[in-house]
Amino acid sequence: MQKTVYFIEGDGIGKEVWAAARPVLTAAIEKAYGNERSLEFKELLAGEKAFNETGEYLPQDTLTTLQNAELAIKGPLMTPVGKGFRSLNVTMRQTLDLYACIRPIRYYDGIMSPVKRPDLVDMVVFRENTEDVYAGIEFESGSDEAKRLIEFFRDELGVTVNPTAGVGLKPITPNGSKRLVRKALEFAVAHGKPSVTLVHKGNIMKYTEGGFRQWGYDVAAEEFAAQTTTEDAPAEGKVIVKDRIADAMFQEALIRPEQYSVLATTNLNGDYLSDALAAQVGGLGLAPGVNMSDNLAFFEATHGTAPTIAGKDMANPGSLILSGAMMLEHIGWTEAADSIHNAVTKAISAKTVTCDLASQMENAKTVGCKAFGELVGSLL
Ligand code: NAD
Repeated sequence: MQKTVYFIEGDGIGKEVWAAARPVLTAAIEKAYGNERSLEFKELLAGEKAFNETGEYLPQDTLTTLQNAELAIKGPLMTPVGKGFRSLNVTMRQTLDLYACIRPIRYYDGIMSPVKRPDLVDMVVFRENTEDVYAGIEFESGSDEAKRLIEFFRDELGVTVNPTAGVGLKPITPNGSKRLVRKALEFAVAHGKPSVTLVHKGNIMKYTEGGFRQWGYDVAAEEFAAQTTTEDAPAEGKVIVKDRIADAMFQEALIRPEQYSVLATTNLNGDYLSDALAAQVGGLGLAPGVNMSDNLAFFEATHGTAPTIAGKDMANPGSLILSGAMMLEHIGWTEAADSIHNAVTKAISAKTVTCDLASQMENAKTVGCKAFGELVGSLL
């Protein structure tokens, strides 16, 4: 069996981390399945490399191919300054309707963490990616648009807003919420996870955050009745669907992380929570991720282009390697994915790591980006 994976090298350290990660994926598949399974990697252009070759940062060809693709993986992309783009990542996310941002958070033994029991954290965050305050409907304090909106609120809706305010809208829809929670529930059921927690601030924002909570429970009841239950009626083999107010969730993540498994969140809460959880396990630089639409799973290194170390063979390729493992898990090639996780775990326990991790460990041996990839490959 062969599957096609489109890849974008990315800018800055992207080229190096991809060059280190790709052989690990190929070797893990070969080790697990011999010649029976393989990935066919096809390059797509984006970022500076695309600009140098085509004069465009995000060529239409790249977008069209991705629109019809199932699997893709990318390194980080720099944000061109003043070129009419908010960001290449945001443009791709919107054009391809990548509505679910999924980040698994787990601890790797040996990494320095700010908490006592980072090993108890094993969560997967499903963050809605297209709505909420990120929809970009925002007007500057004193602008004509802000004034008109504030007047409309006063005259038509009888609501007073301070006339000097900058104002923004927070749209959250039933469909947007349901499709995200559906993905989280499908994942929990498929992977035998104990619970899905809906994270929201519905006590204050009843019709947006509260709506998300309600629509989440609705989709569980309407589409997953046989596989799910609620917190007050736990049942063997069923996924518990529960909810937590966002601020309480941050406390719970620190105090009782073992009680949480899959989290489904609105956009802003998910942004905060996934970074806080990654920091809790000491692994911001190692965190893998994927953005998904209904057709495409687009895996990515979650860090940026790290321009100050680009080209110096110092970058940590771990995030892209683990994103690749996540991709293998996604297509059901779990043996290959497991061997990558084990190899990364072994490399970190042996304290042979890139400088970003070495600086957080005692008596670590520092290796370059390429050598770290080779080490992981040799430990598969
Ligand atoms: P960054 O992640 O590039 O760097 C933050 C810090 O982490 C730096 O000290 C950097 O050296 C270090 N770092 C990051 N990745 C590392 C790795 N793999 N190994 C070792 N050290 C690593 O964030 P930034 O400086 O805010 O952003 C730089 C550029 O990257 C900007 O143009 C930004 O828009 C872009 N960016 C892209 C993505 C993406 O494509 N997903 C994400 C974040 C930032």
